[in-house]
Amino acid sequence: MSTIVRFAPSPTGRLHIGNARAALLNWLFALKSGGQFILRYDDTDVARSTQEFADGIKADVAWLGIKPARVEWQSKRFARYDEVAQSLRAAGHLYPCYETADELDRRRKRQQARGVPPVYDRAALNLSAEERAAFEAQGRKPHWRFKLAHKPVDWVDMIRGPVHIDTATVSDPVLVREDGTYLYTLPSVIDDIDFGITHVIRGEDHVVNTAAQVEICRAIGGAVPAYAHYSMLLGPDGKGLSKRLGSLSLQQFREDGLEPMAVVSLTSLLGTSDNIHPCTDIRELVDGFDLRKLGRAPARFDEAELKVLNAKLLHMTAWSAVASRLPYGNEAFWLAVRGNIEKLDDAKQWHEIISGNQVGIILDDDKDFISKAHDVLPVEPWDQRTWKTWTEAVKAATGRKGKDLFMPLRRALTGLDHGPELAALLPLIGRDRALARLA
Ligand code: GLU
Repeated sequence: MSTIVRFAPSPTGRLHIGNARAALLNWLFALKSGGQFILRYDDTDVARSTQEFADGIKADVAWLGIKPARVEWQSKRFARYDEVAQSLRAAGHLYPCYETADELDRRRKRQQARGVPPVYDRAALNLSAEERAAFEAQGRKPHWRFKLAHKPVDWVDMIRGPVHIDTATVSDPVLVREDGTYLYTLPSVIDDIDFGITHVIRGEDHVVNTAAQVEICRAIGGAVPAYAHYSMLLGPDGKGLSKRLGSLSLQQFREDGLEPMAVVSLTSLLGTSDNIHPCTDIRELVDGFDLRKLGRAPARFDEAELKVLNAKLLHMTAWSAVASRLPYGNEAFWLAVRGNIEKLDDAKQWHEIISGNQVGIILDDDKDFISKAHDVLPVEPWDQRTWKTWTEAVKAATGRKGKDLFMPLRRALTGLDHGPELAALLPLIGRDRALARLA
């Protein structure tokens, strides 16, 4: 049986770092097992879901390098959900409830005050036909709960190991609202069955849902998939990220000029037993991928770490991987400057320093020295050894050495006192520009 996984975002916003992690863990699992990855839009909330967000998610997924084998939309499957809900009603798995949100809220508060877990008391299950008719006569429409078996549900989680949840400790989940629309729980199970999902890999905030969904899946007669629940992401301060997720969107990272593979490397390795390091090729992550490497402790996401990783990634990126994105430069240029940039866009500054009408900085004390250096500049052709040839000649002509020799030359040639190796920069600057800057 071949593996089929799904990534199921709601198109009610753009993807953030937490979604990226869900997408990538599923994608790596699919690649490792030679299986399929389905992008499923959980857009049952038609009022909040938009095409614009769906398009944005598609772009974000593509930016991460993920290629879904299929794209599915829950909003196109309501007829199928109606059909299954109807058969669950007929089999007595769903029961109608008439409580209003206020009533339920008051009941929960009373339970909490008494120190009782806020589990739905199943009052609606005891309604007589007359009582139900009376509610209907008032114009009340029922919402529908799934009657849990109140038995243990056990599974061996691919990350958490054996999990045991007695569904007597859980409220019967509402599957269908008063207006006939669906909450997340049922459509997700139906889709997992219909699309042949073999492995559900998602956050641990879904563990309790899983117990209910396993029961629902069995009630429908579907094959129960394997489950893996990974721990949540926390911020560097150990606090939850939920309030900050808006600013941690992939769109923002892209606009900030970060490399997708930096985001991919970090989100794939966070919370695993592997060291976090930059990978330029997804294959490396696939080879090392194993859900068992994910720990149960929350993983910490730090934007500062992402930036450092981005720089490290660029420092090892080949020219061929960036050439199409740089409208200037060549391989020698890239190899010279890549170690001195944090974002790809920073390369532009070095291009301008090398090729533009750069005015060098020459301090008064260095004027005589620079003038002598100007006079011994070798003739072309130049290569990486030219720097050595020249500086030896400058040393012989001026008696200067070390920092006193190199720093004034660097300042004169680049206008800065730091930067890439001058041995690499000098041939890129070329003799004409070098002479002008030293003049
Ligand atoms: N749309 C759900 C979510 O984003 C999907 C959860 C799941 O993977 O089942 O939480």
